[in-house]
Amino acid sequence: NNANFATPADGQSGRMRMFLWTFTTPERDGALENDIVTHEMTHGVTNRMTGGGTGRCLQTTEAGGMGEGWSDTMAIWNEQDSAATPDFVLGQYVTNNPAGIRTHPYSTNATTNPLLYSDLQTRTEVHAIGEVWANMLFNVYANLVHLHGFSANARADPTTSEGNVIFLHLFIDSLAIQPCNPTFLNARDAWLQADVNRFGGANACALWDAFASRGLGVGAANHTNSFLLPPACPSS
Ligand SMILES: [Zn+2]
Repeated sequence: NNANFATPADGQSGRMRMFLWTFTTPERDGALENDIVTHEMTHGVTNRMTGGGTGRCLQTTEAGGMGEGWSDTMAIWNEQDSAATPDFVLGQYVTNNPAGIRTHPYSTNATTNPLLYSDLQTRTEVHAIGEVWANMLFNVYANLVHLHGFSANARADPTTSEGNVIFLHLFIDSLAIQPCNPTFLNARDAWLQADVNRFGGANACALWDAFASRGLGVGAANHTNSFLLPPACPSS
């Protein structure tokens, strides 16, 4: 009941392993669920792009937790087909369970998914931490799509300016900017810097709005929430 991805340093091939899941008879193959394949492949991307290609820069619990979160987030991104941003459940097929393999659906609704930055005080397993990060990024995604619309061709054409295209640029750009073994704060700041670098900071308030809504606002530190926006950003 698992899958994994090994990421050696640049110059050597990664290795993805997909296993059978035993919740059903017959057993189900994770290779047949896009969520699982995309999640694993994205480990290769985030491990390679963080900290200069050593494949050794998501080693702390918090950084490894974000590694799981980026992987879930890419699965969400890859499976969108309209500007709607409905709740997303990961791993429904392999488990044959509408609740999937995470504790909450990813959601813009804070009742459906109440996870906050401060949940890192008690969530100490990497996938549990990843849920907090992925839900923040799903809210970033929703803000950008609501602002800039949706490209149905984003998987093939990165040159347009819709929200889901902008999101993937910032996702990838931020990985190379952040330090080795980043914290949530480092990673948030890397998204903001990536937006400055590529879009002149045009999306700063959309990013802050999402991060702050889940406790990663101005002044967040040491797994203590802040819901504050910078003075330049209107509260929503
Ligand atoms: Zn994973």
